[in-house]
Amino acid sequence: MLKTKEQFIESLQRQKPEIYMFGETIEDRVNHPLLKPQVDVIGLTYELAHDSRYKEFTTAKSHLTGEMVNRFTHVNQSTDDLIKKVQMIRMYARQCCCIQRCMAMDALNALSIVTHDIDQKHGTNYYENFKNYLSHFQEEDISSTCAMTDVKGDRSLRPSEQADPDLYLRVVERRDDGVVVRGAKCHTTAAVPSNELIIMPTRALRDKDSDYAVSFAVPIDAEGLKLIARSVTPREKREIDSPFRSRWGVTETLTVFDDVFIPWDNVFMCGEWEFAGQAAELFAVYHRHSYCGCKPAVSDILMGTATLIADYNGIKNASHIRDKITDIICTAEQMYACGIAGSVRGKPQGPSTYAPDITMVNIGKYIAGTHIYEEIYRVHDIAGGFAITCPSEKDFKNPETRSFLEKYLKGRADISSLDRVKAFKLVEDLAAHGFAGWLMVASCHGGGSPEAQRITIYRGYDMDTREKIAKCLAGIDDFKNFPEFKP
Ligand SMILES: Cc1cc2nc3c(=O)[nH]c(=O)nc-3n(C[C@H](O)[C@H](O)[C@H](O)COP(=O)(O)OP(=O)(O)OC[C@H]3O[C@@H](n4cnc5c(N)ncnc54)[C@H](O)[C@@H]3O)c2cc1C
Repeated sequence: MLKTKEQFIESLQRQKPEIYMFGETIEDRVNHPLLKPQVDVIGLTYELAHDSRYKEFTTAKSHLTGEMVNRFTHVNQSTDDLIKKVQMIRMYARQCCCIQRCMAMDALNALSIVTHDIDQKHGTNYYENFKNYLSHFQEEDISSTCAMTDVKGDRSLRPSEQADPDLYLRVVERRDDGVVVRGAKCHTTAAVPSNELIIMPTRALRDKDSDYAVSFAVPIDAEGLKLIARSVTPREKREIDSPFRSRWGVTETLTVFDDVFIPWDNVFMCGEWEFAGQAAELFAVYHRHSYCGCKPAVSDILMGTATLIADYNGIKNASHIRDKITDIICTAEQMYACGIAGSVRGKPQGPSTYAPDITMVNIGKYIAGTHIYEEIYRVHDIAGGFAITCPSEKDFKNPETRSFLEKYLKGRADISSLDRVKAFKLVEDLAAHGFAGWLMVASCHGGGSPEAQRITIYRGYDMDTREKIAKCLAGIDDFKNFPEFKP
């Protein structure tokens, strides 16, 4: 089933999750002014799945039923699927920076491999659970996210070594009909506009940590599940001052599991500690692949905004402006190239799932996390001080001040002062105040910190061959032993 945006919103209204934000209990997550802009982001993924311009990317053929489903519910069956996924995410993120529905898709892809591998070793039934769950997920076009990151306490200690055993989510009771879990996941994006959550372990584990090796799906209104949220949306809707954040929102939650019951049918891992690392790593691979689509889109927005300001200031063609924009173009297209190359080099894993190339997608995410500061610096440099000192839209509406703003905030004579101010306000909203910090930290840590990518890139790279090349070129080894090139 391909839900419409209206059906998605109705599905949210049928559930009553326990949500807290800024000291309030939230009764209406769909219409609350600080939450609606995020509902609209997820709503876009339902809307554009019906738009003939984008259907090629936004929908896919389910390998379970042969029906067309929303690509956010699809398990990749080919390198072409992987390419279309990156293209889809860049298309969406050009509008809203972060489309926020990719986490669950990435978790489902990881679980399609891990559940199968666990069953092969332990004779368990997780892959069957997974397939049944995926059928339901596709049929209902479920809005979901992945809560993987635990709060983690002392980073130098393993889960079972922590002073408080609940600092990583764990199973506290096993029953005939299911398990009871306790703990908290953090930074969970888009839990608020979700129907369900998918939970994954966050790291590799040892046998002593087997209670922490747990993965499952849970309805958002399950008893004991509490979402403590914050939002980037301004309290007062300001269409000129905060053009981006008045339209689109992001909310993350501290996601607390206060003894939540999970029936066995929804469990995908329980105690098989030796597979926790694989689950975490596979999710990271798929999610960094997603970043290779969304972060180039953020660059599209940043370079477009910087060019617009330069144009309104009459300096669009100055050589240093072109140089700085060119730097952003290079960053954008390197990340995207990593996503496309990672897709083309994708390989089948598990029963039938395609996974992207680990090295390429980690490089793409690493560039995203380390270059965002440089990109934002370029935008600040090009925009000038009005990126933060421009009077507010209320002064444009005030007859006492409007004429002065129109006169003195003029750039190029043929551009209205108000349009120029709107461009500055977009810079301020995206790259100077408010959202800018989110964008930088999300690029750095979302999908894993840069160090996690570095470790993965180095660990998976064939350095022995490179060392052999050096030995042959230095004459330490005979040139006839020069390593064969394997494309
Ligand atoms: C905007 C945003 C959205 C996110 N959305 C989601 C989501 O939807 N779902 C989800 O599950 N997660 C989400 N995340 C979480 C993201 O994956 C984590 O932020 C990331 O993995 C880093 O973990 P952390 O925040 O706990 O920081 P930390 O792990 O504390 O990292 C901080 C620093 O400590 C270092 N460090 C950590 N542990 C060690 C160690 N043992 N030894 C040495 N150095 C160490 C790291 O390399 C890093 O430099 C999101 C994050 C952000 C910022």
